[in-house]
Amino acid sequence: MKPLLTVNHLQVSYPTRDGRVFALSGVDFTLNRGETVGLVGESGCGKSTLGKAVMRLIPSTGGSIHIGDADITHLGRKALLPYRADMQMMFQDPQGSLNPRQSVGKSIGRPLEVAGWHAAQIRRRVGELLELVGLPAAAASRYPHEFSGGQRQRIGIARALILEPKIVICDEPVSALDVSVRAQVINLMRDIQQRTGVAYLFISHDLSVVEYISDRLLVMYLGRIVESGPTRQIWAGPAHPYTAALLAAAPVADPRAPRGQNILAGELPSPISPPPGCPFHTRCPRAAERCRAERPALRGSGAHRQVACHFPLFEPDAAQLPPLAL
Ligand code: SF4
Repeated sequence: MKPLLTVNHLQVSYPTRDGRVFALSGVDFTLNRGETVGLVGESGCGKSTLGKAVMRLIPSTGGSIHIGDADITHLGRKALLPYRADMQMMFQDPQGSLNPRQSVGKSIGRPLEVAGWHAAQIRRRVGELLELVGLPAAAASRYPHEFSGGQRQRIGIARALILEPKIVICDEPVSALDVSVRAQVINLMRDIQQRTGVAYLFISHDLSVVEYISDRLLVMYLGRIVESGPTRQIWAGPAHPYTAALLAAAPVADPRAPRGQNILAGELPSPISPPPGCPFHTRCPRAAERCRAERPALRGSGAHRQVACHFPLFEPDAAQLPPLAL
């Protein structure tokens, strides 16, 4: 079946005094109906830029974005409108997307108002959405400050889903929440996905959340995907040294487990002057002469594992994958 979203070699670059800065350097991925793809990497690696570029909130400077068969990469404002309904965005701070002087019902229903719905229809639909996210329909008449952080995030979900999008780009949607509320919101998102078939691109620096919610994973470093594949396979055995370092640095619930060490040495290099060759070579414990001279291409079996590394921890050939830790 055709993917809902196909992103091909997407680039975002900005002019500077000394040339161009590449925030995204040729990113490829697909998103299928009912699927969650996690996007991980350190702050500043280009995750949010990718989300905004896919939403057409910032212009891309190369590559293409397709929704189904439709190429939306260069559509003007008006031509883009029908596709806007298919794609929505959820942010870390829903407060920022809710007008404090507007009732919650007004904020959630605004896209329907723009689409020309009648007031009674909007009220009914907003009530349904509030109930879908576990809030009473009567919450529509209250204001954002009257809700807790977790409730506001639920309102953010309702707002993102009001137009029944096929795709939601979730940019750190639960990072600001307490652990217990975070679990509730994540479970709610999964529940809604099972009922509606919505696909999520889930951007997060929190690996434990991504492991829980994602079917597939994209690992990003300096504006490039350096590893991709099914989440459980990557968790069972990362192929790229950067992925291995990220996983090793991720906190785990079991204090006896070997993860939780900070083995990711050094700072993320500036995209203004990225290192030559492999962009990770300045921090990679496996770096060799070839890594400093030649940039590794993303290779592997497309549907399974891909890795951009000259000397991966193992070859991303499905036949050589380590056994899954079930
Ligand atoms: Fe490390 Fe070399 Fe692989 Fe880059 S190409 S991740 S420097 S081993």
